[in-house]
Amino acid sequence: MVKNAVEAVEHVDVLVVGAGISGVGAAYHLKTQCPDKSFVVLEALETFGGTWWVHKYPGVRSDSDLFTFGYRFKPWRGNPLATADEILKYMGDVIEENDLDKHIRYQHRITALSWSTDHRRWTVTVQRSTDDGDTEEVTYTANFVWMCQGYYRHAKGYTPEWEGFADFKGEVIHPQTWPDDVDLTGKRVVVIGSGATAATLIPAIAYDCEHVTMLQRSPTFFFVRPNTNELADTLRSLDIPEEWTHEIVRRKIFQDQDMITKLSVEQPELVRAGLLEQIRPLLPEGFDIDKHFNPSYRPWQQRIAVLPDGDLFKAVRAGKASVVTDHIERFTETGILLKSGRALEADVIITATGFDLSPLGDLPLEVDGERVDPADTVTYRGIMFTGIPNMAYVFGYFRASWTLRADLIGDFVCRLLHHMDDRGATMVTAALRDEEADMTLGPWVDPENFNPGYLTRSLHLMPKQGDRDPWRLLHEYNVEREVLPAADFEDGTLQFK
Ligand SMILES: Cc1cc2nc3c(=O)[nH]c(=O)nc-3n(C[C@H](O)[C@H](O)[C@H](O)COP(=O)(O)OP(=O)(O)OC[C@H]3O[C@@H](n4cnc5c(N)ncnc54)[C@H](O)[C@@H]3O)c2cc1C
Repeated sequence: MVKNAVEAVEHVDVLVVGAGISGVGAAYHLKTQCPDKSFVVLEALETFGGTWWVHKYPGVRSDSDLFTFGYRFKPWRGNPLATADEILKYMGDVIEENDLDKHIRYQHRITALSWSTDHRRWTVTVQRSTDDGDTEEVTYTANFVWMCQGYYRHAKGYTPEWEGFADFKGEVIHPQTWPDDVDLTGKRVVVIGSGATAATLIPAIAYDCEHVTMLQRSPTFFFVRPNTNELADTLRSLDIPEEWTHEIVRRKIFQDQDMITKLSVEQPELVRAGLLEQIRPLLPEGFDIDKHFNPSYRPWQQRIAVLPDGDLFKAVRAGKASVVTDHIERFTETGILLKSGRALEADVIITATGFDLSPLGDLPLEVDGERVDPADTVTYRGIMFTGIPNMAYVFGYFRASWTLRADLIGDFVCRLLHHMDDRGATMVTAALRDEEADMTLGPWVDPENFNPGYLTRSLHLMPKQGDRDPWRLLHEYNVEREVLPAADFEDGTLQFK
């Protein structure tokens, strides 16, 4: 039941949506860079963490290194890849050390956002869960809204429609909504999918199940790496301060990533050969690598997942996991019938088929009484949108850690807020200049650059980008870390009032 709360409307300078890695980072940046601003972080769930709280499937971990997935300002002290619990602990430390808890309101789900130019503020409608299990509606107002709500729907993952899906008599589980009580001991399991989630999950369950089959339509590239960082280990052994180690290791990672990203475009076949060569010795003799692990796209057109010590391949070699590259004809009572005619028998089917993109959190958005569809807007630097005042949005990198961009946007927003104060403005809106009115508009992400299924399925729902700066979403940290701090707020693309 939704009740109307009677308390007064709370007003803040900045309202942050979501307490995932981006929202907690936003809170830190506000606290340290804009100490005079009042702010709250509203989080729908009962705690912080976002992605790392929502996903509870076995083995859930980062596939970015935590030197760069961790914040710029908080040294990472562990191994490069981290479990969800380790990431939550790290975020908890950031909240505690910076006294951010008093700014975060849990179980506050934002349901609508409405901007008024007359009042120069957002009205934010919120459903707050009460201790007795009810929900009540409360309202906040804010001068500026910072959207850190992530990029996919949290409530439910994406499951394609398959013929005969309802006929299957076993259990079907989506990794995004992993049940507490699932026991896979001795079961025949089919995992549909070949991305990071499937590749993380399979080695984590393979040794309990009777057998796990990874069923993929098409192959994915993987990096095989030990879960250690030699440079970090050396610096730590020399008792170098953790802050330095964090920064030095980050710089080395940026350099390495920049090199591999460039090489993937300039010499894709060389990178392809290298990626395949590293996995060959880990797989059984005679394994058809070309069929199962050699994608048709060039390296980095989709995210390259990291396998610590090649754990997925080890499970294949141990006979606990196998890979089938085929298409689903239909589900049957006992498993899956493939287009090739082969049948996969299963007790449990895990649909590691990804998620649905959620443009601006799917929140109904109004500007001066008019409903705004994000798809009708053009993005300013992948952070703001034409016609939507006083709002910033965090969308991270695909080929590098999300948090690198979240930190850069943190600096950008704080600089913008100071700029507004300095010039006495209470409203900032991105607007195309006359010379940009006829600019060619394209999708949020160019599919030639990056094209995983969740993006291509929903690109039409996302804001557009232009063919020149500042109307493009840039994808490389090494470029943006120069461009964003130097962005000229007075070049006419931002209108201040
Ligand atoms: C399984 C998995 C593994 C990943 N691994 C990596 C990785 O290794 N490296 C990498 O760079 N990226 C990875 N990603 C991408 C990852 O989502 C981001 O890196 C990052 O965690 C996103 O953080 P965020 O805070 O922006 O969003 P989220 O983590 O999605 O958090 C958003 C928060 O906002 C809250 N929220 C949403 N809507 C509302 C609302 N209306 N009202 C109030 N609160 C709301 C949500 O409840 C959530 O807590 C992974 C994603 C998944 C799903």
